[in-house]
Amino acid sequence: MRKVPHALFSILFPDECRLCDTPLHGYTRVPVCAACLSAPTALEADYFCAQCKTPFQNRFPLDLEGRCALCRAGARGFDAAYCFGFYEGPLRDLIHLFKYNGMKPLASPLGEYLSRALPLDEAFDAVVPMPLHWRRRFDRGFNQAALIAAQVARRRKIPLLHAVRRVRATSSQTGLTNARRRDNVAGAFRARRGRPLEGMRVLLVDDVMTTGATGSACGAVLKRAGAKSVTLLTLARVDRRAAAPPSAERYQTMGAD
Ligand SMILES: [Zn+2]
Ligand SMILES: [Zn+2]
Repeated sequence: MRKVPHALFSILFPDECRLCDTPLHGYTRVPVCAACLSAPTALEADYFCAQCKTPFQNRFPLDLEGRCALCRAGARGFDAAYCFGFYEGPLRDLIHLFKYNGMKPLASPLGEYLSRALPLDEAFDAVVPMPLHWRRRFDRGFNQAALIAAQVARRRKIPLLHAVRRVRATSSQTGLTNARRRDNVAGAFRARRGRPLEGMRVLLVDDVMTTGATGSACGAVLKRAGAKSVTLLTLARVDRRAAAPPSAERYQTMGAD
C-alpha cells in the first residue's frame, strides 16, 4: 500500500529532470535540474544593428550609424530591442517546456534571464506583454509572454499594463497577396480604448523573436496609442545570420512569430 502514494507522487512530481533525465532530489515545482536551468548562455555575435540588435555575420549590412537596412528604412515599429539569447539549445528546450508543456513555474527562472537582458540604467513607465489571440490563449491556457512580462515588471518595479489586444490570429498568411499580408499583421493588434499610454516609455515583452515583424506591428499600435517610445524585450531570438537578410518587403509579410 505504501507504494501507491509514492507512485502517485512520482507522477505529480517526477523524479527526473525533464531535459537530461538526471534524478532530482527533493520536492521541486520546476522538474528541471539546476545544471539545465543554468545552462542557457547570453547571445554572442560580433556585429549587431545598433537599434534592433539583430546580429550579423559581418559589418556590411550596417550603415555608418550601425543600423541595419530595416531600421534605416524606418520599417521598425520599435525604437530599441534587447534579447537574452539565441533560440537554440537549452534555452529553446526550457521555453518549449514552459510554453508547450504548460510548466508555468518556469516563468520565474526564464523571467530572470529576461531581466538580465535589460540594461539597468534604462527606465520604463509600463511593461506590456505581447498579447495572444484569445483562441490560442484558450488552447494553451495561458499567455506565456504575460507570465514572463510579469516577472520583469515585479523585479524592476514597473507597472504591468495589458494595453493591447490581438484581434486577429495571424498564423496563416498563405494565399494572401503581399499587400494583404501587410494588412494582416498590421491589423492584428488593437490598443485598449482611450490613450492610456500617453507619453509613456513602453517595454514590450515577448518570448521569442523571429523576424521582429510581430514586434514591429504591435509597437506601431502602441505608438499610435500615445507611447513615447517602445523597446522590445525578448527571451530568445531565432538566429537568422545564415539565412538571406530579409528585404523590407519580405520582412513585413512574415508576422507569425
Ligand atoms: Zn537536467
Ligand atoms: Zn536594425
